[in-house]
Amino acid sequence: MGILVINSGSSSIKYQLFNMDDESVLAKGLVERIGIEGSRLEQEVNGEEIEIEQEIADHSVGMKLVIDTLTDTETGVISDVEEIDAVGHRVVHGGEYFDGSVVVDDDVKEKIEECAKLAPLHNPANLMGIEVCEELIPNAPQVVTFDTAFHQSIPKESYMYALPYEFYEKHRVRRYGFHGTSHKFVAQRVAEEMGQPVEDLKIITCHLGNGASVTAVKNGKAYDTSMGLTPLEGLVMGTRCGDIDPAAVPFIMEKEDLSPQEMDQLMNNKSGLLGVSGVSSDMRDVEDAASDGNKRAQLALDMFTNRVKKYIGSYTAEMNGVDAIVFTAGIGENGSEVREASCSELDYLGVKIDADKNNVRGKTQEISTTDSKVNVYVIPTNEELVIARDTKELIK
Ligand code: AMP
Repeated sequence: MGILVINSGSSSIKYQLFNMDDESVLAKGLVERIGIEGSRLEQEVNGEEIEIEQEIADHSVGMKLVIDTLTDTETGVISDVEEIDAVGHRVVHGGEYFDGSVVVDDDVKEKIEECAKLAPLHNPANLMGIEVCEELIPNAPQVVTFDTAFHQSIPKESYMYALPYEFYEKHRVRRYGFHGTSHKFVAQRVAEEMGQPVEDLKIITCHLGNGASVTAVKNGKAYDTSMGLTPLEGLVMGTRCGDIDPAAVPFIMEKEDLSPQEMDQLMNNKSGLLGVSGVSSDMRDVEDAASDGNKRAQLALDMFTNRVKKYIGSYTAEMNGVDAIVFTAGIGENGSEVREASCSELDYLGVKIDADKNNVRGKTQEISTTDSKVNVYVIPTNEELVIARDTKELIK
């Protein structure tokens, strides 16, 4: 069974074609710079890469190029578009409507559009991907998986903000959380690794990438998460500030004469590792600068890991304990120093990291000592596989 997984962004389309009979990846690729100069497609099949540079005016042209490349007689992996049995889409915001993946119909599309007010950069682009696929792959059912869905189980006292209640009623201002597909996947995987039912465990999952969030997973369900109404709250990220005193926002706006949009941009695109270090938003660059003696880069690193540690502590308190801590995504899977620093001085919880085991990149491994009371793991995330599995399940 061929399932195509699509992550449609404002100027890009990421895709993976799975053979779901054995969950193997037949091809994966990226169309980028849609609608701007230098647009291109790159595709990887069995480790071999091809690149096609051509004008890609819009998502429809981009998606057509994806299908042409997948079905190309020389570089393709399928002979006909009919071999795509279903398409699974990543959609960022499902609001309070969706606590799981669903088959697309007009009502689902309307709700995705309605949630665009909560994710103006993402939902319209995600919806565009769905509509283009409906047009170009008309016989394949479409399924959507939401970044917010896993977090819908979070109890009200954790998802509400202590603002006047009417703003929840009028505008649905509350915590939604993001990266849900990833948190759910690694929580289930760590339970498998530990040989215990996920329903019996208290797990803290740390998705540390350019965007980063921590989730408390109690008895297999999300119990709290660090991202909020938008993906800005919580951890220090590549370019996002994460938690700050909300009163700093009007204070800076007044001092610097900034509009709400400019302030939003400052907190989303100019802050975090980049804003503090002044070097880069990329953890590798910040680590390199810190080891060359750059003090601001070291400060950015220390702030990043300190914030992770704070969340581990607070989620342990909320769940009344923790059995496992998982690190995933670009930094979580590769950054051994970040993992070590985030787990340092957690001995009061019985967390002990084994330095040798922690010297690992991009593969599933337990990194805690045998006498650690909490099992700490690195688990590579695979959001695309979750989307493909949900799609297969729903179209059965
Ligand atoms: P993602 O958004 O999941 O692709 O993660 C991107 C982040 O992972 C960037 O900040 C990268 O610097 C970081 N990253 C990738 N490889 C490493 C590494 N070897 N050590 C530390 N950070 C890494």
